[in-house]
Amino acid sequence: MNLIARITSPGPQSPLSEVLRVPLGVDVWEVKPDYMILRATEAQLERLSRMGYQVEQLEDVAQHLSAFATADAAAGYHSAASLEEELRHLAEARPDVAELREIGRSIEGRPILALRIGDRHGGVPKILFMGCHHAREWIAVEVPFLLAKEMVERADEPPIASWLSSGEVWVAPMVNPDGHEHSRVEQRLWRKNRRRNQDGTFGVDPNRNYGYMWGILNLPTSSHVPSDETYVGPRAFSEPETQAVRDLVACELFAGVITYHSYSQLILYPWGYTDRPVPDARDRELMVGLAIEMQGLIRGVHSSVYTPQQSSELYPTAGDTTDWTYGTYGIPSFTIELRPRTVQEGGFILPASQIQPTWEENRPAAFRFIEHLISAPIG
Ligand SMILES: [Zn+2]
Repeated sequence: MNLIARITSPGPQSPLSEVLRVPLGVDVWEVKPDYMILRATEAQLERLSRMGYQVEQLEDVAQHLSAFATADAAAGYHSAASLEEELRHLAEARPDVAELREIGRSIEGRPILALRIGDRHGGVPKILFMGCHHAREWIAVEVPFLLAKEMVERADEPPIASWLSSGEVWVAPMVNPDGHEHSRVEQRLWRKNRRRNQDGTFGVDPNRNYGYMWGILNLPTSSHVPSDETYVGPRAFSEPETQAVRDLVACELFAGVITYHSYSQLILYPWGYTDRPVPDARDRELMVGLAIEMQGLIRGVHSSVYTPQQSSELYPTAGDTTDWTYGTYGIPSFTIELRPRTVQEGGFILPASQIQPTWEENRPAAFRFIEHLISAPIG
């Protein structure tokens, strides 16, 4: 898939949503009310064009990579190894409040790490932040990492000190270390883990492999075709990366979860598998209310607009992280799609100079989530 294209609908006879039902194997990057951005082959784009869609080639992938995937851009980001080292230093600097846990191992044997932050006197409620289910979404490592760093380094200051005495914050910044390494060293736009599939292709999408409504859809955005970017895997929790998260959540019984992705600047809440809203009115109001509140907090920092919406409004997905954490445990669960907003701003390849502002704007939203759950736990 060597081309990046914008697809628009010529009219109501060819609604854009139908593009997401055609089993073409394209890589869906952006879905907006009036257009879609895809990575695709020439043949795939021709097929869409013959179906009546307007197809505009924006650039080829090689051009996109040479513009954005520079050595400078990569230098500001962690590798799996440098992340491990820094997490270890944080834990060693403050053993009274921080502990590094290996929650599992990836297919290639890399540790999947989580930092437990809390002074051990409170213990509950516990909140989980995760990053980098998708390999190419490097900013989704940095935001939770910077959250962990700030919470450890400022553990004695209000309001963090009081949170850490009455609860715990767990941060797992890189759920998919094999994929991330592959994206760093081999293919910058790699998305999935590094499972060798039965048909010889590589990768299961970890964010389609969770065990709530797993596999009930078969669409380009939630696919049963192993070579597809959103391959759901042979069964729920078939992957060691999702097993690690499953076992951690089962053990620690978190009160809420935020999982970071990129890009598009969205705040997504369940469901992904259906257009119907979550049936429990109180849960729905809580999650919609928190999403709107987080939107305002994020915008207040650098005027960035992150749009709150139900996950399925972006596109349908079955087996994602937050459908599972909400569907199985009933806890408030959000997927935050970080910067940038568009492919023209780099898409998955965010310049390293934007790591700090992206963290700065997400900081008050993450803090509000912690504050809400630690001071007023539900249920
Ligand atoms: Zn993602």
